[in-house]
Amino acid sequence: SNNNRKPFVAGNWKMNGNKALVSDFLSNLPANNSVDVVICPPSLYLSNFDNAAFALGAQNVSEYASGAHTGETSLAMLSELGCTYVIVGHSERRENHGESNDIVASKVKAVIEAGLTPILCIGEPLEVRESGGVFDYVKAQLDAVANECGKQYISQSVIAYEPIWAIGTGKTASPEQAQEVHAFIRQELSKLDANAAQSVRLLYGGSVNAGNAHELFVQEDIDGGLIGGASLKVQDFTTICQAA
Ligand code: PGA
Repeated sequence: SNNNRKPFVAGNWKMNGNKALVSDFLSNLPANNSVDVVICPPSLYLSNFDNAAFALGAQNVSEYASGAHTGETSLAMLSELGCTYVIVGHSERRENHGESNDIVASKVKAVIEAGLTPILCIGEPLEVRESGGVFDYVKAQLDAVANECGKQYISQSVIAYEPIWAIGTGKTASPEQAQEVHAFIRQELSKLDANAAQSVRLLYGGSVNAGNAHELFVQEDIDGGLIGGASLKVQDFTTICQAA
């Protein structure tokens, strides 16, 4: 964290939750003016979040505007339901739904053009970390987006570093491991636009919980988190938002 950047915490419910959980969050998640708080429920539930004290995000979106794309959701639809953020390139979509760096880049571009803010996810699998290729791997993920969108994407996005081996495993990256990659990402971005790199929020994701959030968020280049499992409990998520 750094006082020049407003902390940012997003909850990614993935394919979890129901109307009761929506009501629980609407009633019990305290408003927090010092942190940008975003809930990303399954898109089906976005319309149940009227008058929320937090922002709404989607977990995915089509890169196409409309038409013959059975089962997909468009940016116009998300926008109409009050959604202002979209998670793009989550590792579960990259791994299980065939989203290449190029598709992710197209989606980032579409989200920005529609006036919403992408939460761009990047991060390496375990074998890449073990072979020492982390920096090259995340650099390639960032380069694909820069090539498609130009450097202006930096000031229009939030970026989440999520090492795949830490997602849903309970094996959080140590604060030092996370900070090292965050600093690298900010340095890479600053080669394209030094000012935007100083102001872009960089989130850490991967087994963040109420107990470890603080030690991660105090790191210089970690501006908040993208929270999976621990975003399904109001109390834990509240604690994490307060730690940011
Ligand atoms: P996790 O998920 O917090 O359950 O590890 C994070 C994510 O996938 O965004």
